[in-house]
Amino acid sequence: MHNENDIILKAEHVKKYFPIKGLVGNVTGNVKAVDDVSMHLFRGETYGLVGETGCGKSTLGRTLINLSEATSGNITINGQEITRIKPKEMHFLRQKIQMVFQDPYTSLNPRMRIGDILTEVLEIQHIGKRAERMDMVIEMLEKVGLRVEHYYRYPHELSGGQRQRVGLARAIILNPDLVVCDEPVSALDVSVRSQIINLLLDMQQDRNLTYLFISHDMSVIRYTSRRTGVMYLGHLVEEAVTDDLFANPMHPYTQVLLSAVPTPNPHIKRKRIVLSGDLPSPINPPTGCVFHTRCPAAKEICLSQLPEMVELAPNHRVACHIGA
Ligand code: SF4
Repeated sequence: MHNENDIILKAEHVKKYFPIKGLVGNVTGNVKAVDDVSMHLFRGETYGLVGETGCGKSTLGRTLINLSEATSGNITINGQEITRIKPKEMHFLRQKIQMVFQDPYTSLNPRMRIGDILTEVLEIQHIGKRAERMDMVIEMLEKVGLRVEHYYRYPHELSGGQRQRVGLARAIILNPDLVVCDEPVSALDVSVRSQIINLLLDMQQDRNLTYLFISHDMSVIRYTSRRTGVMYLGHLVEEAVTDDLFANPMHPYTQVLLSAVPTPNPHIKRKRIVLSGDLPSPINPPTGCVFHTRCPAAKEICLSQLPEMVELAPNHRVACHIGA
């Protein structure tokens, strides 16, 4: 069981709005990508963040580690407030918080050799002397299942799976505490996905890493994550231990997502719930519960009142007027 002291990241009422500029540079509105999210991560766990494309999960991941500045709210990592942190302090903290991106090809400089890409990470943080850095990089390449020869290769000479191994090496080489994995396997062939997932999990066990694992794929989340949060249109709508979430989804949106996931037992078939309409625009989200325009269970109150997150079962929080 975790307690308050085990928390590595705590986010309270975090918002991330992107202003929309008019013709003369005036702000005419906001894209409300993340809207009042509170959550925490325990040290050493994997927290899965799931939701359809455009729900704000990647923006939340970037905001939580200060790659994108929060519009408002508080975020602490290792007890240090990062929403008002000085750039120099952030530079040191950056060692401890890293990110693995969806598409390693676009996140690796095509003109640099793999060894130089990884060495640069150490140089920026002033870690090791020149010869030591080379040893550290080669050791890390081997840890992620690559060979010494890959040190001298360019990103385009590697396969997608090998590039993602480099992406992982780049995140891990600084010995971080927390890694945000943003759809780390969704750009890969199905045949190599499980290799990369298992590598991530092995790394986690070796180094007691904490992962925020962002994915649109419920099956990947189920395999990787101890707890899961479900996002819809910038809001966290349900959060629970992953097994509980799959066994007893309480929010109508989670029920929709899970109805599309194949069950391990072919004799048990879930009734597929198909949502009507498209995801509304985060520029002009619906009033009340943001899911009410598509919710099969919506009632009068949902049109005007935003439901609060409440704990409906132990460690199972839901934002819905039903059951609250
Ligand atoms: Fe549906 Fe209302 Fe619950 Fe929102 S609050 S998910 S609209 S029942």
